[in-house]
Amino acid sequence: MDKHKTHFDILIAGSGFSGTLTALALHQSGFKVGVIERGAHPRFAIGESSTPIADMILRSISEKYDLRWLHNFSRYGSWQHSHPEIVCGIKRGFSYYKHYPGKSFSTNTCHDNELLVAASSSDERSDTNWLRADFDAYLVEKIKAYQIAYWEKSEITGAERINDRWAIQFNHAGEVFSLSCSFFIDATGGGKLAAQLFSVPSVSGDFHTHSFALFSHFENIPRWVSVLESRGISTKDYPYDPDFSALHHLLDEGWAWALRFNNERTSWGFVLDGRVPYLLQMNTEDLWQMLEQKYPDMKLILKDASLSEIPGRVISSGRLQRRLESAYGDGWVAMPHTIGFVDPLFSTGIAYSLAGMERVVEALCAHRDFGGSLAEQLRDYEQAVFAEIRLIDYLVAGAYKAMPYFRLFNAWSMLYFTFTILYERRRMKNLPVNYFLEADKPEVQKMVHTSYEELSRLTGKGFVTEQEEENFTDRIRQIIQPYNTAGLLNPGSKNMYFHTAAALD
Ligand SMILES: Cc1cc2nc3c(=O)[nH]c(=O)nc-3n(C[C@H](O)[C@H](O)[C@H](O)COP(=O)(O)OP(=O)(O)OC[C@H]3O[C@@H](n4cnc5c(N)ncnc54)[C@H](O)[C@@H]3O)c2cc1C
Repeated sequence: MDKHKTHFDILIAGSGFSGTLTALALHQSGFKVGVIERGAHPRFAIGESSTPIADMILRSISEKYDLRWLHNFSRYGSWQHSHPEIVCGIKRGFSYYKHYPGKSFSTNTCHDNELLVAASSSDERSDTNWLRADFDAYLVEKIKAYQIAYWEKSEITGAERINDRWAIQFNHAGEVFSLSCSFFIDATGGGKLAAQLFSVPSVSGDFHTHSFALFSHFENIPRWVSVLESRGISTKDYPYDPDFSALHHLLDEGWAWALRFNNERTSWGFVLDGRVPYLLQMNTEDLWQMLEQKYPDMKLILKDASLSEIPGRVISSGRLQRRLESAYGDGWVAMPHTIGFVDPLFSTGIAYSLAGMERVVEALCAHRDFGGSLAEQLRDYEQAVFAEIRLIDYLVAGAYKAMPYFRLFNAWSMLYFTFTILYERRRMKNLPVNYFLEADKPEVQKMVHTSYEELSRLTGKGFVTEQEEENFTDRIRQIIQPYNTAGLLNPGSKNMYFHTAAALD
């Protein structure tokens, strides 16, 4: 192929799972597609914890675009049967443990300091934690196998729009390339390329959430269950083993995630509340040490941990919240994670990315000449992604407000689980899917806005009484009641939910 003359229907920048899966779906739909990647695979990437919604979308993409092998990655069992060499972990659900400064974790028989929400009924059917280095590299091998043009270690330097075509310039192996395409997709996972090529700024100002993360991969992180057992804390009425879930340790100034892979590596990260001024002033090492000193179990868990070879260091994210001012323009569109991000709490990222990917591919397939009403459809997509970001922002910001008061956190998080169930049910009934988490539904918006105001009033006083916690929990129980098919906040559940992913009646 003469790379200086080749014309593509669509060029995609970025070969994370969004870029590669979009390339595969478009290729299968008959487009001539190329992918340009700045880095090289395998490479470290964060964003590992999948959900039932993400799995449903993988299955749907697999069927719709005749990518049957993709189906295997939508459940732990079929992943292991087909590709045990691609590392992942079992993720049976969402587990939360509340830690208090200076105290080791403790709880009671009502599980007052724990919340376990199962998303699957068995390990075989379980969601997964993706080792992104492995999974993304596999997807890149797939695009090559489908003969999709792929360049890595390539730095895009310019894009010029001439007569309905883009001329995309990039540097690769010391050579300057210029490729032509009719349409360009930015799947670079951040706002920098859109700012560079299309002068579209990425903003953070209108978010309620303000958080940043310190994270890496570690060896030798002990099982949390062994810590619980050493304290005589019973796990016998747990719906699953929390070491095989998205495990959250809630602190007063934020939270820590622990995602275990089946090679015993663990993804560990602290996500901290950037509204707390002294946290922003500390460097990564001091923050890490401070959290270990303040929370005895953080120290216990991390004391023998060593950094995994990749990435081999603790990464500090800076403020996580960002949103492009525009998600599309003349002849281009950005994928959801490129458009914006809120925070890893509730693991919305993969599903939100895949939900957006479905819409982008459908819009392009419906407008093969990239004309007609494509711009209108992309405007609808932009509105959807912006609304989804707003909803996730409310959900996460409320969770940070509630974090010091576990009962409030517990009640608040049920809004997220309710919205996921609503969306899952829609998909399972084959109803047309609209916005991720039903972010366009007035009843969803009303639930979250009114509850957020109430929560802000309560926590804004600086203390919350037990009676106030109970009243707030009652309020959430009432408002989710019409949609609550999983017994959420049922007092008899004792914070242990055995299966919340939607099942059809
Ligand atoms: C701290 C943190 C924790 C997260 N945890 C979770 C989680 O637990 N669960 C979840 O669902 N989501 C999570 N997410 C979100 C998740 O990371 C994203 O949803 C996911 O990575 C999106 O994939 P992507 O392919 O769109 O982008 P990315 O994974 O970011 O991939 C982008 C690709 O583009 C390449 N690239 C970048 N710039 C250029 C350029 N100029 N030219 C060419 N290529 C370029 C990069 O090298 C990379 O390969 C988390 C995010 C963060 C920040």
